[in-house]
Amino acid sequence: MFDKFFALPVIKGDAFLRLLPTDKTITSILFDGGDFSSFTFENLVSAHTKSLDISIVSHADSDHIGGVIELFTTKKIGIKELWLPAHWAMLLDYISNLQTKPTPTDLRNPEKTYKCNVKENIFPEITTGTLNRVFDNLSPFSTKVINYQNHKMFMDKTTMIYNLVLLASKANTKIRWFLFDNDSDPCPKSGEWYMRPWNSKEIHAGASAAIMPLTVIYSLTITNKYSLVFHSLKSEGSGVSSIFYSADSNFKFIKNANSNKSQRTLDMPKLEERAIVTATHHGSNDEAHKPFYDYFSGSDYLYVRSDRDCCSRPTSKLKNFQTKYCTICRTSKATCCITINKSTLASSATFSPKIELEFTKCSVGWTTTQTVCCCQF
Ligand SMILES: [Zn+2]
Ligand SMILES: [Zn+2]
Ligand SMILES: [Zn+2]
Repeated sequence: MFDKFFALPVIKGDAFLRLLPTDKTITSILFDGGDFSSFTFENLVSAHTKSLDISIVSHADSDHIGGVIELFTTKKIGIKELWLPAHWAMLLDYISNLQTKPTPTDLRNPEKTYKCNVKENIFPEITTGTLNRVFDNLSPFSTKVINYQNHKMFMDKTTMIYNLVLLASKANTKIRWFLFDNDSDPCPKSGEWYMRPWNSKEIHAGASAAIMPLTVIYSLTITNKYSLVFHSLKSEGSGVSSIFYSADSNFKFIKNANSNKSQRTLDMPKLEERAIVTATHHGSNDEAHKPFYDYFSGSDYLYVRSDRDCCSRPTSKLKNFQTKYCTICRTSKATCCITINKSTLASSATFSPKIELEFTKCSVGWTTTQTVCCCQF
């Protein structure tokens, strides 16, 4: 039994699957699920495993959460545990308990910080009707509190979160919650040794957590900065990690290290030679990911990038990375984003513009027979 890591060729976004031999079994871990794909995602997963021990969703963008919602919808692949951002639990709890319309002042008032008691498998008693009522309550503030684009995103993402948690709850999947936290030390008790959060802490059942409603709302909008980052230790008790899952993080936790003294320093985990590092935000050109490129440029980890075929990605900054692999490479002809017709894709399971990447763990770190990236910048 080999330790395997796959970058799955989802239409858009990220989906990484790890099959880790532990004791006499294999622990299967899915990190994000790509976009909605008219149920082709299930085939990508079932080619490797019939069930998942852990499925993690790093943030609420559809190109990360979509495939996981599909897995729960088709129910062919059992999912034992679902690991989610804890502020989602607070959001659902907050919405379900709203008695009166929140005012913009309520949302911004730190004294109105919302406290949430985390239950083992939290799911507030809310219905679609209740959600609609809350959406109605929030909409008059869309121009005062959230701009139109953010407001729509907030509605869309809240609906996806609601659906995911409802489906998981019906499937009796255990949900574990990770509260985003860029400013304090990683907690060694959070998660499992093979999946430790880096910029969040696990909220255990019985604990309570507090957050400002406005913070939660903005975390679901275009700012897209509350992305959970995880790493995997080389072995239990090891001080070295073998995989770093960047998700769409802006890597603010690295930036803190260089800023003023009032902000604490958070080092990156120590990575073994030939560790796998997933490219942040699909190799995006966004300046927000500069700390990622500054930190990793020149080092010889294996960079794994998933994306759609978009002209702007990956950024030429990725040129400085020595060993990189793409599920789809940028060609010189890529002058615009090609729209993939999802129904065409569903009817022709063999067609995919992306390829699956496979990596195997051995004594010298991760190895692969995949062709190295041929992106033309
Ligand atoms: Zn993304
Ligand atoms: Zn994103
Ligand atoms: Zn490439």
